[in-house]
Amino acid sequence: MRIFFITCLWCVTLLTVPQSHAALQVVTTTEDLAAIARAVGGDHIKVESLTPGSRDPHFAEAKPSMIRKVYGADLLLLIGAEMEIGWLPLLLRSGRNSQVLSGNPGYLDLSRTITLLGKPTGPVSRDMGDVHAQGNPHYWLDPENGLLMAQAISERLVALDPDHSNAYRSNLASFQQRLTNKIKEWQITLAPLKGSEVIAYHTSLIYLASAFGFQIVDEVESKPGIAPTAAHLNQLIKRIEDDQIKLLIMEPYYEQRSAKFLQDKTGIRIGVIPQSVGAKSGIDDYIQLFDAIVSALKQTGSF
Ligand SMILES: [Zn+2]
Repeated sequence: MRIFFITCLWCVTLLTVPQSHAALQVVTTTEDLAAIARAVGGDHIKVESLTPGSRDPHFAEAKPSMIRKVYGADLLLLIGAEMEIGWLPLLLRSGRNSQVLSGNPGYLDLSRTITLLGKPTGPVSRDMGDVHAQGNPHYWLDPENGLLMAQAISERLVALDPDHSNAYRSNLASFQQRLTNKIKEWQITLAPLKGSEVIAYHTSLIYLASAFGFQIVDEVESKPGIAPTAAHLNQLIKRIEDDQIKLLIMEPYYEQRSAKFLQDKTGIRIGVIPQSVGAKSGIDDYIQLFDAIVSALKQTGSF
């Protein structure tokens, strides 16, 4: 009985005292970053995303559960380029974890590893709408950028946890190999879309367009982040008709009334594009994300 008691106590201690070899705690601002981190980190890290893939990543509410995640993190991965500007600074102040603040090894802003598109050429003012001064932050929607993001995450994991550097490097190599093969497959499927003019709801799909060679010529929003006006929708009808634009693409979290209105007037096809891992069930990793995007585009029947 006594031996049993001591053994149990030992079990409990093992379960509650943090282990020196415990998995690295990685917290990400989005599910896309979490998915890439999981692919590279494997069993040696524990990953949690602060936001679900089903919501617009520009917005989040700082909840106590999110503050706890930041507090316990060894590494924070963020999209950067002002994507999280509305909610992350407050969370970092509340999280009281200097390790994951900018400038420290536990802080990795992935936008620094990417050549950003859509950098405004002149000064940015409020009446331009939600324009990001450093460039467009929706860069994970080019799968080639996923290769670079995985590389940067792997390098940081190696620096923070050198004991498992071999695993991080080999996980990276196999992820990059799988992704590279899939990119070739997606390029073939979407080849007929090359050179087409497309309308998007928000300025968020320019990386997808650049990856697969189509062109986004206008947005449903009047200005980034600003709901469409009747006058703007009328201009769009004219443009869709004049230029014979056949496809409108948008994320699932935007209102669909405006797109349906344009469809009623012009017959344009609507492609609802799952923009993130977790945007809908069955999209659990970065490769499944693009499989779902490519099939959503194909299903519009516009090409
Ligand atoms: Zn945006």
